[in-house]
Amino acid sequence: MKAAILEGFGKPVEVKDTPRPEAGPGEVVIQVKACGVCHSDLHLAEGDWDALKRITKLPLVLGHEIAGVVVETGPGVTTFQPGDRAGVPWLHWTCGECEYCTSGRETLCGKQSITGVTVNGGYAEFVKAKASHVARIPDAVSFEQAAPLMCAGLTVYKAIKSSGVRAGEVLAVFGVGGLGHLAIQIAKARGVKVAAVDITESKLELARRCGADWTVNSGLEQPRKALRAAGGGPHVALVCSAAKAAYEAALSSLRKGGTMVVVGMPAEPIPVSAVALVAGELRIIASAVGTREDLRELLELAAAGGIHCETRLEPLANAGGALERMKRGDITGRVVLTPDAG
Ligand SMILES: [Zn+2]
Ligand SMILES: [Zn+2]
Repeated sequence: MKAAILEGFGKPVEVKDTPRPEAGPGEVVIQVKACGVCHSDLHLAEGDWDALKRITKLPLVLGHEIAGVVVETGPGVTTFQPGDRAGVPWLHWTCGECEYCTSGRETLCGKQSITGVTVNGGYAEFVKAKASHVARIPDAVSFEQAAPLMCAGLTVYKAIKSSGVRAGEVLAVFGVGGLGHLAIQIAKARGVKVAAVDITESKLELARRCGADWTVNSGLEQPRKALRAAGGGPHVALVCSAAKAAYEAALSSLRKGGTMVVVGMPAEPIPVSAVALVAGELRIIASAVGTREDLRELLELAAAGGIHCETRLEPLANAGGALERMKRGDITGRVVLTPDAG
């Protein structure tokens, strides 16, 4: 089969011929119909994150936003059959026995394996996955739309859920990119009022199309002031941007008792004033991807028509080029690779 392969950190990702995976016990082989290109893929390929660099398999097939069709099931698999529509997320496998797995927090499992990091991912014609951790994709959701939900959508879905924000409250989304534009729609679907903050007017335009109640151009106006005017300031600030300035603006704009959710990851530490935290009894929480249950809920929401991701379908052969363009900041919408095109 064809797969886009990373031979070493910092090396270009190139499409090569490689043996098709075979399903072992408890596993399925999925024919990939769509695989999203996530910003993490670029960081992984460059070896930017030490904690992941240590556990990254090389050579590696990147890609953890996979949607496709089951073509083979291994011994013991009863939950999937050939022909089933299936999705593979970042969490490839978790132990099911540790304190985190048994308390609904499998994203923290210390024994987890990770799709497109510790095992081969979806920049390929076929991928192998654990039946226990594969998601069912509803018929109403296309492969192209389902793929980005596996990481980008899931990450913000769980972040919003973890924040505890309630219907009628105000959530401010900082950074209207791949994650941010999905966050706006997910929050709106939960009855939350949404303010979107970005420095680029075209992204604010996207935010309005996604249903944002207020938009704030942080290059033209002070986010704190503008957000206080918009619904009295956010109960929750969800920071999808990787800019340090976004974190400063987010924390200072929260209403008393508010919560800042860390999702975007700047390379440098984020400044936090203990005085501001104490005076406002503010909370800072972080969220990483999501559990299988979160993913099921998100796919149901998508099937009900609640979410539309801005995608651009490109052939698998473009994998390396897409990462190059991402590095230059030259990407609008989620690039979704498909082995079926061109
Ligand atoms: Zn991702
Ligand atoms: Zn575990």
